Amino acid sequence: MQLIDLSITLEPVSSEPVPVAIDYVSHSEGADILGKPVGIDHSHFPDGMGLSLEYVRLTTHSGTHLDAPIHYGPFSEGKPARTIEDIPLEWCLSDGVVLDCTTQTTEPISSQEIQSELERIGYTLKPLDIVLLRTGADRLWGSPEYFTDFRGVSREATAWLVTQGIKVIGIDSFGFDPPFGRMLADYQREGRAELLWPAHLYGREREYCQIERLVHLDRLPQPSGFKVTCFPIKLRQCGAGWTRVIAIYEEPLS
Ligand SMILES: [Zn+2]
Repeated sequence: MQLIDLSITLEPVSSEPVPVAIDYVSHSEGADILGKPVGIDHSHFPDGMGLSLEYVRLTTHSGTHLDAPIHYGPFSEGKPARTIEDIPLEWCLSDGVVLDCTTQTTEPISSQEIQSELERIGYTLKPLDIVLLRTGADRLWGSPEYFTDFRGVSREATAWLVTQGIKVIGIDSFGFDPPFGRMLADYQREGRAELLWPAHLYGREREYCQIERLVHLDRLPQPSGFKVTCFPIKLRQCGAGWTRVIAIYEEPLS
């Protein structure tokens, strides 16, 4: 079996739009925390050390995470939209397929492009497949361009995938829609509200989840024939959850 990690490490870095903060409580501080309330001096702990812990401050959309339908709007398919703890587990462990969407263009990924790539790799989608879109934008992690230089996915490509029975679509960029500056320019030029977060807002019509900020999709040795796990952390009434995304190849790779 071969396991390939597709998640970014959560840490205080400039590519998080809302800074991530981690306060580390050391082993010796931990000895005081555990021992003092019950009258044990830290010197009585083995080697003077207790147990460490960390306090973390971040948003549900920090790092590699899964967006739930409630993130897109209060309703999806005419029903109250699912929150992250209500995402069916079956959506989060399934056959994976990675599509090469690396090009020079800055246009959002289209359904035509997805269908051509599926044809090229000889793969037919089936319901609940987890579709991973490789744009290469993760190489910009750590630079200001990470926020601005990515393609995003068009509304019609999202709709096409969801119509095939896909419930989870992942991408290796900052966001699933085009960069904010580009959406804003489109909106200001045409004045139509539908041009703001068009793929996200498709999720008000049909339920789907998206994984944002994947990394290392270029390390997948084959475009299909693997499983993906992306179980989100259960957070009460939240619109997203952090997830450790792993590609699993059962067969030894030659
Ligand atoms: Zn998100």
